[in-house]
Amino acid sequence: MVELPFPAADVAERLLEWYGREGRELPWRKTRDPYRIWLSEIMLQQTTVAAVIGYYQRFLQNFPTVEHLAAAPQETVIDLWAGLGYYARARNLHAAAKMVVEDFDGAFPQSVDELQQLPGVGRSTAGAIAALAFEQRAAILDGNVRRILCRLSALQQPPRSSAAEKQLWYWAEQLTPMQQVHDYTQAIMDLGATVCVPRQPMCQSCPLQGLCQARALGLEQQLPLKQKSKPVPTRREAALLLERDGRYLVRRRPASGLLGGLWEFPTISVGDDEGAAERVELLLQDFAVSGELQSLGVIHHVYSHFRLELQLFRLSIHEPHVAESRNGWYSLMELKELALHGAHKKAVGKIPASGE
Ligand code: SF4
Repeated sequence: MVELPFPAADVAERLLEWYGREGRELPWRKTRDPYRIWLSEIMLQQTTVAAVIGYYQRFLQNFPTVEHLAAAPQETVIDLWAGLGYYARARNLHAAAKMVVEDFDGAFPQSVDELQQLPGVGRSTAGAIAALAFEQRAAILDGNVRRILCRLSALQQPPRSSAAEKQLWYWAEQLTPMQQVHDYTQAIMDLGATVCVPRQPMCQSCPLQGLCQARALGLEQQLPLKQKSKPVPTRREAALLLERDGRYLVRRRPASGLLGGLWEFPTISVGDDEGAAERVELLLQDFAVSGELQSLGVIHHVYSHFRLELQLFRLSIHEPHVAESRNGWYSLMELKELALHGAHKKAVGKIPASGE
């Protein structure tokens, strides 16, 4: 492994001094309760602090302990997560709560290895929980820390390559101090969130600027190197926005599998050589309704493994309609609050407000 070109202790010393002055007051920082810390860490993956605070507080009101969360139906957890995105986190959160209760007698494990057994807890999240709740000398390497380390060392490799990954973990572990691990962990997270930000890092205010190789080389805007994204396939689907009395029919996807537990409008796949409207006619037959379809245009949405091209068709009906057990009728206002998955959330925005 390549060694850092400065003493590791200098980084912790500067960060801790800076954190004493500039550290943020956040709700989950006042506690050492591993349940609350775990909850905040899962919510903060892929999401900003500002977006998380309200959800964090609502979750604690509904599920004050890990036992409450484990005992809740998965659908309740997903519905409470609505709007926070990356719903696999909500499903894993629920599964992990069950595991803590059933396999660990309700007490969070303290070692990084055991914490990683919990669904949705990778090495970095396990390190964060161990450091923040149990003051263990455990390193983290989340997106913020990865960026800081790439810049500090002027690493000229894509940071997600396996060689870079090993190197970055090596540095992350070296930099983690023996003492004040809790504050150090919070400090490096804060630096990434507020100073060493992805675009236009604020090097003038950075406590590490005297050590930073990217800063010295004028490369702070270029690093980390961009990862080449893999090509992803495109799927074509058509959705039926069936309206009755100002309410729209949606259904919940099965709990397991792709986008499990999330809501969507009735949808059908569309082959390359098929017309979307003709395919939606098949859906109308399933619901035993008919009428003239109104096209509401196309939605494009990128999921982690594919792009979705979703054509929207609306139909107003008046006849009473017997919904399946997993279906429900919701007003536009209610749809905006519902845990619809990405493309269907966008579809709600395409519905004319008047319902016409
Ligand atoms: Fe990031 Fe700039 Fe600080 Fe380097 S000096 S760690 S690039 S903010």
